Amino acid sequence: MENEKESGLKIILCLEDESFAAKLKSAGIFDTSDSVINTQSQSLKVSGEAGMADVIIVDETFEQNNHYLLGVILSKFKSCPVSYFTGRRSPEGADPGKAGYDFIYTADDDGMKQFRERIAAIRQRKNNNNNLPPLPPQIVFNAILKNMAEGFMYVDNDDAILYVNDQFCNMVGYTYEELIGQKGYTLLIAEEDRDMLLQKNEARTKNVSDHYEIRMIKKSGAVIWVAVIGTPVTNQEGAVIGSVGIISDITATKRSEAFLRRSSGLLNTLLTHVTVALLEVDKEGRVVYSAGRVFENIGLTDADIVGKKFDDLFGSLDIYFLTGKTIKVSEVTQRLLAGEFVYGFSDFKGYYFENYFTPLYSNAGTPAGGVIFAFDVTERKTIQKKMRETEDKYQTLVENINDIIISINRDYNIDFISPVVTRMLGYEPGEMTGMPVQEYIFAPDSLPFRDGVMAVFTGITRPIEFRAITKMGTMKWLRASLRPHYENGRIISAQGVFSDVHEKKDMEQKLILAKERAEEVSRLKSYFLANMSHELRTPMIGILGYAEILQEELTDDETQKMAATIFASGNRLLETLNLILDLSKIESGKLEIIKTDFDVRDEIRGCIATFAKTADKRGLTLELQGDANPKLHLDKRLFRDTINNLLSNAIKFTHIGGVTVEYYIEKRESKENVVIMVTDTGIGIPERSQTLIFEEFRQVSQGYGREYEGTGLGLSVSKKFVESMGGTIKVKSIQGKGSTFTVTFPVKK
Ligand code: ADP
Repeated sequence: MENEKESGLKIILCLEDESFAAKLKSAGIFDTSDSVINTQSQSLKVSGEAGMADVIIVDETFEQNNHYLLGVILSKFKSCPVSYFTGRRSPEGADPGKAGYDFIYTADDDGMKQFRERIAAIRQRKNNNNNLPPLPPQIVFNAILKNMAEGFMYVDNDDAILYVNDQFCNMVGYTYEELIGQKGYTLLIAEEDRDMLLQKNEARTKNVSDHYEIRMIKKSGAVIWVAVIGTPVTNQEGAVIGSVGIISDITATKRSEAFLRRSSGLLNTLLTHVTVALLEVDKEGRVVYSAGRVFENIGLTDADIVGKKFDDLFGSLDIYFLTGKTIKVSEVTQRLLAGEFVYGFSDFKGYYFENYFTPLYSNAGTPAGGVIFAFDVTERKTIQKKMRETEDKYQTLVENINDIIISINRDYNIDFISPVVTRMLGYEPGEMTGMPVQEYIFAPDSLPFRDGVMAVFTGITRPIEFRAITKMGTMKWLRASLRPHYENGRIISAQGVFSDVHEKKDMEQKLILAKERAEEVSRLKSYFLANMSHELRTPMIGILGYAEILQEELTDDETQKMAATIFASGNRLLETLNLILDLSKIESGKLEIIKTDFDVRDEIRGCIATFAKTADKRGLTLELQGDANPKLHLDKRLFRDTINNLLSNAIKFTHIGGVTVEYYIEKRESKENVVIMVTDTGIGIPERSQTLIFEEFRQVSQGYGREYEGTGLGLSVSKKFVESMGGTIKVKSIQGKGSTFTVTFPVKK
């Protein structure tokens, strides 16, 4: 009775092409009693299905587009034969073994006919199984319970546990005794899944078998995923009195499934958004899978690639290695299939690819093909090329500049130095890079150089002149102009140029030397002159003395005049001599100042007396004005020479009128000065010459055409005398009207 009943097949469709599903239906493949699950519309259901089905049908497009989903499905239905439909004329292209396909059919009438025949055979076999002869139940039952891999459980309608096998006890960590009589629903089922179990129990009362996955809680509290095949148990009358469940622990599978789903999701994103090509080749080097946007860009479709030999497609291309070596892709494929990982670059149709050839191994550990990732890095390469061009440009610039370009880091080591250094100092840049910079600096200049560089690191820049040691061991003057180089707001190096200033410096050194020598010579000269004073004066005094005597003794007019000329000329010579000697004494620092107290009025009177005769001869007045009788503490000779000089000039440059000497005491705050003014009504001094006349040898009218005698030394010597005694001298003059020379000395109290 029951035995004769035909039951339907459970068929899982993995079809991308809806029309193909319709075609199967119209070919009379399915029976009305069959339960047909279409993964395309019910994929979630499939992933929740347990591992029992009679037929799995996969078409080619589904395989290509849902590689990973298919993997999941096939791993769940391990024991179920898979029938694969290929769109190709002959099924040769597809490899039955590669993804565990058991039967391959072409999607045409022939294939359909073959498939129908096989389905009929499966139906036949299944019905035969349903009609097995009766076996001695208890013996068989016990043997099965003991040897099965799964857990077994028998519960009544209230879910109270009546029986469990050892396998189940192990699975949940309870003993047989602990489980019997307990309610499985409360003891074992995770709270989240209890509602689901209630529904399953409901179905059970309607005598419906079910497969489901559910979470159980072990005695330890750990949660495990189990797959349950639940079958209602009926009594003689056909009423449901409980249920048996075959339970397997699928926690590990669940975990890897979640992982697979995630990684397949990631892979899909990668393939659609990143310009990457992914190819899988089998151990013969035939492309079995291809994906990625790169092929779209190049205009290759899957049909152009899948099923072809990888080397026929790409074998003649070159692969460039980072080492600069180039080999053909066909050679790389050989290596890949021998289990070697290869990494290299390739050009293809104007694109530039970075390629990873990764070998695949079978479970037995033998090479089973490989995966090739090709990333489109054309853009990156273009940028790199541009960068290299700019770099080259700077490189040429750096090489052509005459100055050394240098970078010194915080450790005082040379980071970079341009090739010009070879020309300038003889070293190769390579031998200096990384070395402490001080090794190349002449020791006496080392400290100032270091200070200069350290200052750059605090943001202060100033040029540093120093001597570098050349490779030959000689010195060369260089000038460093360094500036701070910042990275992320921090000074990381001092960068700039070393310029060759050797010639300039050399010249400078020579000039300094020449100046020092000149100064030395001048000092010697002054020293000589100062020492000569005695030698020169003594004979002069003799000449003057006798000329004066002759002047008085001689009675003859003619000879008396001659003697007078000798005397006057001698006097003038002596005066000049005195001035020159005074000047050289001042210059050699040998001027002796002997201070004594004296009456200002007496000294000036004495001076005026000397000039009285001359003034008279020239018809000029010579007056002295001053009431007080101030005293000064100075060198009397220097004082007198100064006044004499002023008087001599005043008379010399005055033709009409006269000369007045005036003195007085000037009180300023707590200070007291003696002021002496020598005023004439002479030719005056033009404004522009009024400071000049105090310089040595300067006269208002110079050259041979000058009208007045004189050396141009008087005022400069007077000025030095006055200043050496703490006084000042100035002039006020109006051209054509006269001049006033004012000398001021402080009264020392
Ligand atoms: P010297 O009188 O020997 O030429 P000085 O140094 O005494 O040298 O004077 C420098 C110059 O200053 C004179 O040559 C003259 O041109 C000008 N000078 C000095 N004193 C007077 C003055 N009282 N009146 C006009 N010019 C004067």
